[in-house]
Amino acid sequence: MIPHNKSTMGAEEESAALRVLRSGQLSQGPEVEAFENEFCRFVGLPSGHAVALSSGTAALFLALWTLGAEKRKVSFPGYVCSALRHAVNMVGGFEDIVDVAEGSPIVDLKKIEKNQISIVPHMYGIPADISNFMDTQIIEDCAQALGAKINGISVGLHGEAGIFSFYATKLVTTGGQGGMFVSKKKDLVDAVRDYREFDYRRDAKKRFNFQMTDLQAAIGREQLKKLPRFLSRREEIFQKYKKAGLELLDVKPSDTHLSPVRYRAVMKTNGPRKIIDSLESVGVKTIVPTEDWELLGERDLLPNALRLSRETVSLPIYPSLSDEEVEIIISKVLRK
Ligand SMILES: *Cc1c(COP(=O)(O)O)cnc(C)c1O
Repeated sequence: MIPHNKSTMGAEEESAALRVLRSGQLSQGPEVEAFENEFCRFVGLPSGHAVALSSGTAALFLALWTLGAEKRKVSFPGYVCSALRHAVNMVGGFEDIVDVAEGSPIVDLKKIEKNQISIVPHMYGIPADISNFMDTQIIEDCAQALGAKINGISVGLHGEAGIFSFYATKLVTTGGQGGMFVSKKKDLVDAVRDYREFDYRRDAKKRFNFQMTDLQAAIGREQLKKLPRFLSRREEIFQKYKKAGLELLDVKPSDTHLSPVRYRAVMKTNGPRKIIDSLESVGVKTIVPTEDWELLGERDLLPNALRLSRETVSLPIYPSLSDEEVEIIISKVLRK
């Protein structure tokens, strides 16, 4: 069976985990701090500007909280995972659901109202072009786009704040669950760090337990070291699919200032079910990346999202996928 997605774990992650288990220091401590600072270096922020958290959804909630989203309108696309809606509801914000641009998994920036908070996901590793987008407080959802860049600068650094996920199937994982908040603005970073834990505090501010453990961070540090290799192998596979003539969601060729990462190889097709069934018959798992029933909000108001959900299939793309497996997938898709 060729699975649709798979994490890449090796001896390095195993010995890092063992090191922490044997040290007796398991909860948030020096490994978390080192992971945060290595993450800062990777995305191009000064040390201290990243906060490790229990999940990407926790990071979204905290980003919304620090921007004061309670009782304010928060826009986000209808074509996305429901984590966004849950975070907005938990903070007490008002949903403003927006369609994606035609033929694209990226939210239609023209439809975002000014003077509100907006969560903009870089879906499937494709950066949303927010370089000239103003008058809106943007939270960049980089859960699927670690390593992607806009004008040579990492995603997550173009809006007020950025969030990342280290869930098992994301570009890197901290062992199943995990997240990161980043911002250029130190006051936002400090506010998130303050909210993350509540022991030994002498005031009565709102707080919660959103911590990452040292065990998770130690695994994440090894994964981060391997990320450049992961990304180049993913790019290789993406280009093999393209060369074979498959039509994949990607940045426009003219958008040379956008550097995507290949989180997903999402193919456009009129018959997604036929492709899914035919690949299943040779032991290859493919999925509709965002199903029509997963769309958030009124479908009638999301014609582009609805069409995309019905005309796409997500093909396997991960570092451990072999060339032979890629060839099997290509030949089956072409012969469907
Ligand atoms: C995975 C994901 C999230 C949520 O992250 P978790 O770590 O699973 O909580 C949010 N947004 C997008 C776009 C995601 O892909």
